[in-house]
Amino acid sequence: MSIVVNESWTLEEGADRVSALFEQTFGARPQAVHSAPGRVNVIGEHTDYNGGFALPMALPHRTYAAVSKRDDRVVRLVSAQGQGVREVNLDEVDTHDSDNPVQGWPAYVVGVAWALEQAGLGELPGMDVAIDSCVPFGAGLSSSAALECAVAAAWDDFMSQTPDWSPMLATEEGRAKLVEACIRAENDIAGAPTGGMDQAASLRCKAGSVILLDSKDSSVRHIPFAIDEAGLELLVIDTRAEHSLADGQYAERRATCEAAAKKLGVEFLSELGMDADLSGLSQLEQMRTRHVVSEIQRTLDFAQLLEAGDFVGERLQALGELMTESHESLRVDYEVTVPELDIAVEEALANGAVGARMTGGGFGGSAIALVPKEKSARVMEAIAARYEREGFNEPHFLHAVPSAPAE
Ligand code: ADP
Ligand code: MG
Repeated sequence: MSIVVNESWTLEEGADRVSALFEQTFGARPQAVHSAPGRVNVIGEHTDYNGGFALPMALPHRTYAAVSKRDDRVVRLVSAQGQGVREVNLDEVDTHDSDNPVQGWPAYVVGVAWALEQAGLGELPGMDVAIDSCVPFGAGLSSSAALECAVAAAWDDFMSQTPDWSPMLATEEGRAKLVEACIRAENDIAGAPTGGMDQAASLRCKAGSVILLDSKDSSVRHIPFAIDEAGLELLVIDTRAEHSLADGQYAERRATCEAAAKKLGVEFLSELGMDADLSGLSQLEQMRTRHVVSEIQRTLDFAQLLEAGDFVGERLQALGELMTESHESLRVDYEVTVPELDIAVEEALANGAVGARMTGGGFGGSAIALVPKEKSARVMEAIAARYEREGFNEPHFLHAVPSAPAE
C-alpha cells in the first residue's frame, strides 16, 4: 500500500522555488521573499465566530511570496498553483458584491492592500508578486490565510521603508492589525466567510507552541506544545474528499448560532455556561449551541492540561479524550463531518491514536490524530487501506510540527 506524505519545504527551498518563478515571469530577481504558514486547529472548532476559544498551531507547510515593489498601483501576480499572469490595479479593487469584483485568487492578495488602506494606513504601492505553496488547497489547512498573510508581510516590509510606518510584523499589536486586514480581505474582497482563527494562527503562532485564541478580544496566549519530545506526533489526514455540500453550510451554521444567541439574549454563544437553559430554542438551535458551548469548555480544559505538565499517563489520555469528544460533538450536534472524516478518526483510534478529530470547517478537509510516533506508520496504513476499501479518494498525510509564523 503506498502512503502519500505531503512534505513541507525548508525556507530555503521555498524561497528558491518562488524566486525562480518570479524571475521566469517578470525577468528580474525579486527584492524580497516572504512566507506564511498554513495552520491546523488542535481543538476549538466553529467557536471563532461565536466569540469563543480555539487552539491552533502553525504548520511547517508555508506559502511563499517573492515580491518587488512597483512605482505605480498595479499588482501583477503569478502563482505556481494558478494559471497565467494576472494584473489588478489597486485603485480598482472593489468588494465582492460590487459590479466589478476581483475575480479568482488575486482577490486574496489585493484584498489585503485594500483592507490596510481601509484601516487608514495610507496608500500602498503596487507590486510584482510570484506565489508558490506547499499548503494543500481546500484541505481545511488554510491555504487562503497563508496566502493573505504572506503578502501582508510583503506590504508591511515595503511600507516600513517609508517614514510614518512602524513595522507591524515586529510587534504583537502590529500583527493583530495585520490579522484584521487579512480577515477583511477574505470576507469583503474574496467573498469567503471566515471567522478569523486562520489569520491569527498564521500571523501570531510561534514555533513549538499552540495559541489559545480568544475570539472575543482577539487576544492570544502561547502555550508550549512539545509533542515531539514526548514521543508523539500530530498526524494530519487530508481526506481529499470532494466537498460540494460545503457551499452555504458554513453560513447556515453561523446564522443558526446568531439566531440562538439572539433568542437567549447574549451577543455571543460563548457567554453561556455549560448549564445554560436552552429550552427556548428550536431543536436544531439546541444542538448547535450545545456543540459551541461544550467545545469552548473542551478547548479551555485542553489548554489547562497542556499548561499543567508533560504528555504522560492520565493527562495524555485526557487530552486524547477531549479531541475525540470534540469530533463526536461536531458529528452529532454540529453535523459538519462526512464519512471520510469519521472513518479517519475511527481507524486512527483503532490503531493506536490517543485522540483524533476532524479539524477546520468540516465537509471534507482534514482530520488530525495524536499518535505515539511508533504507531504513526500503522495508523497511516490502516486509514489508507480503509479508504481504498470504501472507494474514497486516496488520503494524503502531513506531519504537523508547531512552526513559525508569517515573516
Ligand atoms: P483552505 O484555506 O482551507 O485551503 P479556501 O477555500 O479557504 O481553502 O482557500 C483556497 C483558495 O485560496 C484557493 O481556491 C485559491 O483561490 C486561494 N489560494 C490559496 N493558496 C493559493 C496559491 N498558492 N495560489 C493561488 N491561489 C491560492
Ligand atoms: Mg481558507
